[in-house]
Amino acid sequence: MATLLFKDVNKVYPNGYHAVHDFNMEIKDGEFICLVGDSGCGKSTTLRMIAGLEDITAGEFYIDGKLANQMSARERGIAMVFQSYALYPHLTVYENLAFGLTLEGIDADVIEEKVQATAKILGLTDYLERFPRALSGGQCQRVAVGRALIRKVNIFLMDEPLSNLDAKQRVTMRSEIKQIHRSVGATTIYVTHDQTEAMTMSDRIVVMKSGGYVQQIGTPYELYFYPQNLFVAGFIGEPPMNFVRGTVENGKVAACGLNADIRPIVKDAAAVEGKKVVFAFRPEAIKLAHEIDKTQKYYEITSKVELTELLGDTTNVYAVVGCGEEKVNIILKVNPHYTPAMGEEFKFYIPQSAAYLFDAETEQIIENEVVRH
Ligand code: ADP
Repeated sequence: MATLLFKDVNKVYPNGYHAVHDFNMEIKDGEFICLVGDSGCGKSTTLRMIAGLEDITAGEFYIDGKLANQMSARERGIAMVFQSYALYPHLTVYENLAFGLTLEGIDADVIEEKVQATAKILGLTDYLERFPRALSGGQCQRVAVGRALIRKVNIFLMDEPLSNLDAKQRVTMRSEIKQIHRSVGATTIYVTHDQTEAMTMSDRIVVMKSGGYVQQIGTPYELYFYPQNLFVAGFIGEPPMNFVRGTVENGKVAACGLNADIRPIVKDAAAVEGKKVVFAFRPEAIKLAHEIDKTQKYYEITSKVELTELLGDTTNVYAVVGCGEEKVNIILKVNPHYTPAMGEEFKFYIPQSAAYLFDAETEQIIENEVVRH
């Protein structure tokens, strides 16, 4: 078991590229943390600094309260699973699982016991004599996880471990990894660019942006309902949150695109007067006229439907709000039984509790006292 602490950790590569800026975080014992963000935002670099595969340029990194900047990879008690599996092709599953233990000179009896126990957890018992080439992608991934698991480490690091699998296998492995985490309890740091993976697996998520800047750290619930800035708001959620730019005039969001009476709920109304803002709402948060709950307040918006996509449980409606140059494309999720026709003028309602307002310049959320529900 292990706690991790990062204090102003930075990475500058020898060519001068500053890949991670002031990473600060405390990770509790047994937490499952996902680092998420687009390609190149510094996720793998952060993971490699934890593993001891990259030097930390500045800042302090602690494992269980001990400064670990200079600790060797071995001393850190870490196992890492890579995207490429890194299995030995000429060894059987049994030998792949046993490899690290054999090198450490552990007794064959003990190895046998550990391999069998690990294979059982991962459903590999019937495949122990097979070579990697005779396994599916999902089974190879299980062997890779098994090799990390068998070493009884305190910290598990995983770098995009599911990206070589097809969509169905990914969903299966996602829940398997969660179950393994629950039974083993090792502190786990998991890198992915896939927000669904991050949302479904994590205790907490670290959202990173290109240049190696942490945007927000929080539970999946916090990131989805309480994003702190435009980047996180747009990154978490599929389809992404809708953004409409405007200016606050006389307490209302004036945006040609909105054609609606929008009086934002903010803590300090005077402070936002005249400000350029981004009014935002999620595609799935909107209601249709017959779904309105009289106890709530809504913003009514008129849009024009351009395209609809029936997905089965829901219909994605691609619509436009606004006029002239200021037309804004938005996406709405509606009940498929009430799908509007293409070209139709379409009214929808945003609960005030589901609307967000961001400062267009700083891109930060404008404080309010709205409880999301
Ligand atoms: P991610 O895992 O989020 O895709 P990485 O941590 O791999 O991102 O890389 C972050 C940035 O650092 C990228 O722009 C990448 O090109 C750069 N980078 C990675 N390794 C090196 C290196 N050895 N030397 C210089 N730049 C590097």
